[in-house]
Formats: sequence, structure tokens, C-alpha cells
Amino acid sequence: MRTVILGVDGLTFRILHPLIERGDLPNFKKVSQEGCEAILESKYPPLTPPAWVSLSTGLKPARHGVYDFWTYEEQGLPGAERIPRAQTKRKGGKAIWNILSEYGKQVLVINVPVTYPPEPVNGIMVSGYMTPSSNLDFTYPARFKEELYRVVPDYEIDLDLHSFWRKADAMQLLIDATLRMTERRIKLTMHLLKEKPWDFCYVAFVGPDRLQHSLWEEIRSLDTRATEYFRLLDQGLGLILEQLGPDDTLFIVSDHGFQGVTHVFNINEYLYSQGLLTPSSPEHIGRAHRAADVKQVVRKLGLLPMARKLKRSLKHKGALKVPSRSAWTLAARYSGMRQVKYVGHTIKMVYSTHTEGESNAALRLHMQKSMILYQLFCTVWACPRLTLSMADYWMRSLCPAASLDRQQVK
Ligand SMILES: [Zn+2]
Repeated sequence: MRTVILGVDGLTFRILHPLIERGDLPNFKKVSQEGCEAILESKYPPLTPPAWVSLSTGLKPARHGVYDFWTYEEQGLPGAERIPRAQTKRKGGKAIWNILSEYGKQVLVINVPVTYPPEPVNGIMVSGYMTPSSNLDFTYPARFKEELYRVVPDYEIDLDLHSFWRKADAMQLLIDATLRMTERRIKLTMHLLKEKPWDFCYVAFVGPDRLQHSLWEEIRSLDTRATEYFRLLDQGLGLILEQLGPDDTLFIVSDHGFQGVTHVFNINEYLYSQGLLTPSSPEHIGRAHRAADVKQVVRKLGLLPMARKLKRSLKHKGALKVPSRSAWTLAARYSGMRQVKYVGHTIKMVYSTHTEGESNAALRLHMQKSMILYQLFCTVWACPRLTLSMADYWMRSLCPAASLDRQQVK
């Protein structure tokens, strides 16, 4: 008996059911009729990295240590800026592929998010979303990378979303790129399923999340072009089903659902209106833009990991002083405090503080007020369940008690 987990980021019945009814997805229809389906609750917070890692480990974020897309280096000297780093791997707990490997089962783990660096398994692992660069060793065993590119020469771990920005036909480019990436992943998956021994295969596709963030209304209205991806995914599902025997099991799972939003509550705007944030000087903003442009060029050249290493080393030796690149600063009376940038789905940035004191308490009070407003806003305008839990999460992140969760990670 073998098992396949087909993970699809952001897949929702809101889209699947109408497409099945329209006759677009014969293989999803077959699975739906012959199997069973249910809406499951995502994890807390319902963001892609913690939700996938919980799916892979069966653990809460407090146990596997992934709460977010970012992690922050441990607190250094008072007043020092905390440097965010991409969260590429879990901090604790065993994933299902570790356990199965220990039992001698052959596993294939393909593009599951937050799995960089790839782990030694009894089989093959290809790291997924959050892998810093395809120039790195993102497969286990490392030599499998050569075979991967031989079988699928243009294999992509994820989309380069920056390449579409500011282009007139960005949406068409996004759809085409998502289709190409998915065709290649299906090709790799079929190669592995046919050519390698396996008891367990766990493969993740990310297309719905990438497309629905930009094209929700078009996909929701079942526009033919915007929903092309789902027909391709259905074909991929059909190919996987052909490989399965009567004793084999298939799970189709997602990390969270999806729905549209019509309004955005911008916490920066609120803090600005309260006099708690001030825009940086024009020079400061210009410098931030220039630094972002340079970074993009370096990334395109595939030199970002090397450039970061060099920058860290120069900073460490005191040879390089890098000024803050934030376009916002805390207002003067809070200038002694530290800032944490927070990038989320809806809120662009949240400022928090890490030192105690009278003014800190005042700022926290304002932040709590903004959260209450945000919660009211969510209740009235947006999806209460998802957004309220996110607001609650951010509320916790403003309190010192939130750090307790992190200490639970072993
Ligand atoms: Zn996701």
C-alpha cells in the first residue's frame, strides 16, 4: 500500500466546485465522487509557512517554530536593529518523511514549502517554496540535482514575481509563467513516480496561491483564461491517478483557503494619523528605492546569497556602515525604541517595541487600539474567521507574552 499527498497551496472549494460542475475538472470530480471531502481548519496563524509545516509534522507552530515567512535573529545589544531572515526550515519536530525514513519506507518529497536545506531521507527530497536560490544545493541527495535538470531542464522552484512588476501585460505573463512552472513540476513528479522506488510521495503545487492573489475576481467568475491553471492541475492529477493501484491512497490537501477582500486597513496609515509614525526624509526614501533596485539586479544575476555574505562580513568587521532603509520612522518621542518590520498578507507593516518604559506602554496602548479597530473592520468587511485570527496573532506579537511560545520550541 502506497500513499500520495498532493498538496496545493491556497486551493479552495469556492473555485473547485464551480469548475467541477462546469465539467472542467474530470479527475477532481472522480476523486470527489469516489472519495470524501471536507473543509479543515488551517493552523494558527493561517499563513503559508506555519500551515505547511504543521501539515508536514502534525505539530502546532509552537512546537515546530515556524510562525511566519520571516524569522528574526536573537536580540542583540539594546537599540540594535534585529535582522529578519527568510524562514526556510522548521526549528523543531519530525516531519512525516523523517518518520517514514526511520521505518525504512522509500519517500519522495517534492517542492514542499519550508524544506530548505533538503534533509537526508530514505529517498529523494527537492526543496520547495522559501528556498533562497536554485543555485544552491536544493536536492537530497545533492547529485539528484543533475538528474533533475537533465529530465526537466527549466525546472523552477517558484515564480520570480519581481519579473512581472510594472509590466503592462503582467497578468498574462503571470498566468503563462504559472502554467509553465506547473507543467515542469508535473513532469518531474511523473519521472519520480515512474522511475524511482517509493512508498510515499508528497508533492506540493503553489499555482492557486500565486494566481488568486492577483486574479481572484477573474478566477471567481470562472474566466476561461484565468482558470486555465486548474485544468492543467486536473490533468496532473489524472496522471498521478494512473500510477495508483486499488490499495494505494491519495490525499489532496491545502494549507489554507482563499477569498477576496474589498478593503484594506493600513496600520501604518493609522499610526501616521495618530502622530506615531513620520515619513522619512526624501533622501532617505530615495536611498531605499535605489537600494531595492540594486538588490533586484544582484538577485537576477544569482549573486544575492554571496552579496549578503559579503555584506554581513564587512559589517561584522566594521568596514561597512549600512544606514536604515525604512521609508518610515517612529515619531521623535519614540525614537529610542526598536522597530520590527512585519510583512503580512493584508497589513504591510507593523511596528512593535522591545524595551519597557512609560512611552513604550503608551505606544502599545495605541497599537492595541489600532488592533481593536482592525478587528472591527474585519468583522464588518472581511472574512471574520481568517482575518480575526490574524489580528489576534498580531496582537499577541505586540505583547511580551508572545515570546513564551518561541521558548517552547525544542
Ligand atoms: Zn499558502
